[in-house]
Amino acid sequence: MPVNPDPPVPMRALLAGARRKESALLDLIQKLVKAESPTDNKDAVDACVALVAKHAKALGGRVKLLCQRGFGNVLEARFGPKSKTGPAGRILLLGHLDTVWPLGTLKTMPCRLGEGRLWGPGTLDMKAGAAMALTAIEMLTETGMLKREIVLLLNSDEEVGSPVSRPITERLAMECAAVYVLEPAQGLAYKTARKGTGNWRIDVTGVAAHAGVDFEKGVSAIRELARVVESVSGWTDLKRGLTVNVGIVGGGSKTNVIPAEAWAEVDVRIARKADGPRIERRFAALKPGDRGCTLTVAGGINRPPMERTRGTVKLYRQARALAAELGFPLEEAATGGASDGNLTSALGISTLDGMGAVGEGAHARHESIVVEQLAPRTALLAGLLAGCDAAVAPDTLPKRTIRS
Ligand SMILES: [Zn+2]
Repeated sequence: MPVNPDPPVPMRALLAGARRKESALLDLIQKLVKAESPTDNKDAVDACVALVAKHAKALGGRVKLLCQRGFGNVLEARFGPKSKTGPAGRILLLGHLDTVWPLGTLKTMPCRLGEGRLWGPGTLDMKAGAAMALTAIEMLTETGMLKREIVLLLNSDEEVGSPVSRPITERLAMECAAVYVLEPAQGLAYKTARKGTGNWRIDVTGVAAHAGVDFEKGVSAIRELARVVESVSGWTDLKRGLTVNVGIVGGGSKTNVIPAEAWAEVDVRIARKADGPRIERRFAALKPGDRGCTLTVAGGINRPPMERTRGTVKLYRQARALAAELGFPLEEAATGGASDGNLTSALGISTLDGMGAVGEGAHARHESIVVEQLAPRTALLAGLLAGCDAAVAPDTLPKRTIRS
């Protein structure tokens, strides 16, 4: 590997370029927001994906639509020269175009500019991130600074846990040296760690009986469930970043019937990869306290944590250095929420997250992005795509093994 002869990235010039493109970028975000794209409406998501595909083609992207049946299509667009050095030369830009908002949300939550923000469903999470990526690529192409292959992957099922796009994300990530995730920033910070998530459902079966006539013949599933809830809730260990939340419970039929059925749904978050198998074993080992009851336990860890690895820290430090040249301090943050970055990080590929818009209210009625942050964040993204060298140094390449 020869010593990198490239001149330093001209961050100030990139910022000026991003400011010139700000109004076009805002237009593009609004266009994407107005193409409402709830995960469960394939036609709607596909229409939004098609808009981005058209835009990517116009920028000279090599665009592939990976068609899906149950969900919207997945967009893969490649920019810049084809990598001759394999993964070492490529960066994956990762995001999604589906939102949690049902069709028609725009009627009561319109896409509008005001108070220095752009408001509307999916602005922050994460149509702005997708538009910023396209704009960063456009800036680099126009200035001849796009010297490496960029793979932009936008899926349509992230908001329900990426059931169909997960293998695609993992396959493309394996072809790249680093992954930049276009999810919203945490406050003003990039995200260097995310918790992993798991979900369980526990069903308890007892024995029904008349609460007045045959009380002693019954076995209460609700009472048993209460024990189970108390027990699994006790596994929370805040110091380890491990939380167990029994979020929904149900059971019983009438007040005068000993309940034969009860159930609970549980959300688990882990900060450490090693806690995944550990907590899975604990759920699997759950036994009823009352032998008259049976327990059925189903679930598991579905997204591993994105740990703050050396590779991730290296990517973050480069970002911080370029941000300093733009005149702002860039912090790093950890979050309890998961993204597709969890998947790529778990493969051992350096992943930096939260590189999309700055704003507030993801999944909430006040969802919005801060307009004045668009240009500096887009310039930073462009600078990293042009100049990030952690992604090309062979000694930082991760081991390429997929965990099943
Ligand atoms: Zn998102």
